[in-house]
Amino acid sequence: MPTAILQQIQNEIFELPGAGMSILEMSHRSKRFEDILASAENGVRQLLALPENYHVLFLQGGASLQFSMAPMNLLFEGEGADYILTGGWSQKALKEAHKVADERGAKVRVASSTQSEKFARIPRPDELDLDANARFVHFTSNNTLFGTQWQSEPQCAAPLACDASSDIMSRPLDIQKYGLIYAGAQKNLGPAGVTLVIIRDDLLRETPKNLATMLDYKTHVKTHSLYNTPNTFGIYVIDVVCQWIEELGGLKGIARRNEEKAQILYDAIDATDFYRGHAAPDSRSKMNVTFRLPNEELEKQFVKEATAHDLDGLKGHRDVGGLRASLYNAFPLEGVHALVEFMREFETKNG
Ligand code: PMP
Repeated sequence: MPTAILQQIQNEIFELPGAGMSILEMSHRSKRFEDILASAENGVRQLLALPENYHVLFLQGGASLQFSMAPMNLLFEGEGADYILTGGWSQKALKEAHKVADERGAKVRVASSTQSEKFARIPRPDELDLDANARFVHFTSNNTLFGTQWQSEPQCAAPLACDASSDIMSRPLDIQKYGLIYAGAQKNLGPAGVTLVIIRDDLLRETPKNLATMLDYKTHVKTHSLYNTPNTFGIYVIDVVCQWIEELGGLKGIARRNEEKAQILYDAIDATDFYRGHAAPDSRSKMNVTFRLPNEELEKQFVKEATAHDLDGLKGHRDVGGLRASLYNAFPLEGVHALVEFMREFETKNG
């Protein structure tokens, strides 16, 4: 979370200016909260330049619930969907899609997978085996654990359904290609506990009668995310974060910042044989930079010493090993410089 935003929240937590009470006390049915909700939606719309035919929803249950909700709402009997596997989160999305498809007599296909290469890269366009009749093509825009990212959207005729949990609002999107975008807010957008869902109007259909009301996108579209009590605090923070991004020059501005941060770190990795990037250079993520050291002992030592230098959270995910530096929107440029300097010192002592 950007420091300026933490400070603003701190200033406003006791009383939201003019409201006479805290956001934590406010009814989700109050006029003031409805204004906040409308402003947050507007912030999302402005940043992504969303056309009128896209709905913006603030739900709960995380991206993980969207793994199920997406096929529950978009995939019906006799239909098929393509899934592109680029990491653990895509695999989880696929697993849930299979459950829905099996029950409904629909089909889920794997259009491509880079698992045999430890998910170190994004598939090339010629490696995508897409079904021309697929209802949607699901992909994970940024692979949080493996440190790979689609540099541009997969090319396909069907609408894209994208898990953008770890790079939402980090760069502009070609929105027309998307039918559905979902993202847990907790990385680039706000606190944990809100899930942003953006869905194109023509993808909303009559769902099977036994689908739980809360799992039907139409419920939340009709009620503007107020069917039940939403995460009011989370939505308030998203509103503030959207304004912060806007002030930095919108998604183009934040993308430039993110590119600069990532480039500095990748340059440091490429400058020596001591550090080795996990991701193939053409698939590198600007959000999560994954790298290895010559052996696991040194990696453990690196994490320990880095933590002592206030460089926290660098241990890679257990499925990948090594190190992972997450450079989400709020992470400051100075933090990257500090990490790179620490890396140089560590190599000098241990290389
Ligand atoms: N997809 C991706 C790409 C993620 O990075 C994460 C969380 N790190 C998830 C899905 C799961 O999100 P949630 O915890 O919001 O369910």
